[in-house]
Amino acid sequence: MSESHPAIGIDLGTTFSAVARLDETGRPTTLANVEGDKTTPSVLFFDGDEVIVGKEAVKAMGDEMPCVADCVKRELGQRIYPKELASRQYPPAVLQAWVLHKLGQDARAQVGQFHKVVVTVPAYFDEAHRKATQDAGYMAGFDVMDIINEPTAAAVAFGYQQGYITAKEGVTQSQTILVYDLGGGTFDVTVMEIGDREFRALATDGDVHLGGQDWDRRLVDFVAEEFITRFGADPRQHPNSLGRLWRESEDAKRTLSARSKANILCEHGGHSLRVEVTRGQFEELTRDLLDRTVFTTRETLNAAGLGWSDLDRVLLVGGSTRMPAIGEMLKDLSGSEPDRTVSPDEAVAHGAALHAGVLLARHAGRSPSFKIANVNSHSLGVAATDRKTGRPRTATVIPRNTRLPVTAKRVFHTQKENQKSILVQIVEGENASPDACSQVGRCSIRSLPPELAARTPVEVCFRYLENGRLTVYVAIEGIDKRVKHELLRENSLSQEALDSWRKYISGLSPMITSEIQ
Ligand code: ADP
Ligand code: MG
Repeated sequence: MSESHPAIGIDLGTTFSAVARLDETGRPTTLANVEGDKTTPSVLFFDGDEVIVGKEAVKAMGDEMPCVADCVKRELGQRIYPKELASRQYPPAVLQAWVLHKLGQDARAQVGQFHKVVVTVPAYFDEAHRKATQDAGYMAGFDVMDIINEPTAAAVAFGYQQGYITAKEGVTQSQTILVYDLGGGTFDVTVMEIGDREFRALATDGDVHLGGQDWDRRLVDFVAEEFITRFGADPRQHPNSLGRLWRESEDAKRTLSARSKANILCEHGGHSLRVEVTRGQFEELTRDLLDRTVFTTRETLNAAGLGWSDLDRVLLVGGSTRMPAIGEMLKDLSGSEPDRTVSPDEAVAHGAALHAGVLLARHAGRSPSFKIANVNSHSLGVAATDRKTGRPRTATVIPRNTRLPVTAKRVFHTQKENQKSILVQIVEGENASPDACSQVGRCSIRSLPPELAARTPVEVCFRYLENGRLTVYVAIEGIDKRVKHELLRENSLSQEALDSWRKYISGLSPMITSEIQ
């Protein structure tokens, strides 16, 4: 069976998603959606009981904004999407599942039935985001074989194009590339080494709250301020006026990538205003956003222990890299023209499909065509108590940019004599204060043996896989079993809820009966 299973990769983007498969020759190709487009807007419209995903949902933004959900990926890891949609609230992962479901159905129309997929995530996604993405895939009816980082996927697609995967003799010359991935909602930068059938991440960093949307927002604000000066009313205050203005601004931004000026029409409260924006003005309005990407890019190069001159090329990925200012900035910094040979909209899905091919080959007992080695994007640790000050402190177990998979241990101690239980609070991030880090989850060990001495060693062991998913083992001296702990995640859905949503989204059950949490 698995021999005939298509290798499918899904790029689940903040603003646009894409699906690719490997054809009979092993070449990745994009699967168009039923509307005939290579990318699908990751936007949902709740039309009564019906959920519409894609282009039609974008159209609804002008008149029915209160029933439209967009940029859901930015909310992943939260308990609930902040907006009520047709009188209901949904966990962000459920909304993502609907997007994935549409992508799956459209792909099946071309390649037939399949369940196994690879889904991509920004390299900078933390544990909670990764778990939520896997859950979304499950609720959409998929068997998510793996999740891989978007810049890595783009590098794989690039490597394929360059013959690093297919060359019969093998390619001996390796190259170091920097993948600069600026999409609609996230920014990722990764330094990679591509060798003969091997892709090795050296360092990765990014910002899950920086993307094309922020550039749009600056135009929206600029026009809204002009509108207020003229008519004394703020179009951002009405959802439909804002929805229309946003669409106009995003369109003007694209025009400014090709031309030196664009017009933005703003209609609100019976007034209408057309504002002209030049490319120079736009670049001035967004300079600080560009600077933020420069800062992160420099940091990542430093983390990899490299300078600009060590790079063989800078690879541009993500729709927002079409803005001329990005290419100019990277040319200034690196001294050479950035590489635009991969399609910024399709490369990630292509890389995911190539990785799906590797996994299917492995399942079928064949040797895979290439290997991926990744690093973690955030340090993982435990909230500990500082013995000297008595204050909470982050104790790192796996520092960021460690090669994965990795198993790392650290020994802590019980605080009091005769302690009855231990709570291991797992955190992710670089801050010395655990409260300022992202809370991954906790595991508690109860019923400790009686009369346990104070300062009994507790060994905490993290097993961190290539896909960024974590398992925790805790061992206490004097107790001879090592316990594997399922993490209790604060904003995660229960298995029962996941199963109910899976049935509901695929149309197998007419109602969602379980609690959303
Ligand atoms: P994501 O994967 O995060 O959804 P994409 O890589 O698909 O993002 O890129 C989408 C972003 O690229 C959007 O913000 C869109 O406005 C922007 N974009 C697409 N084409 C252009 C263009 N020609 N000029 C400027 N921005 C563009
Ligand atoms: Mg993307």
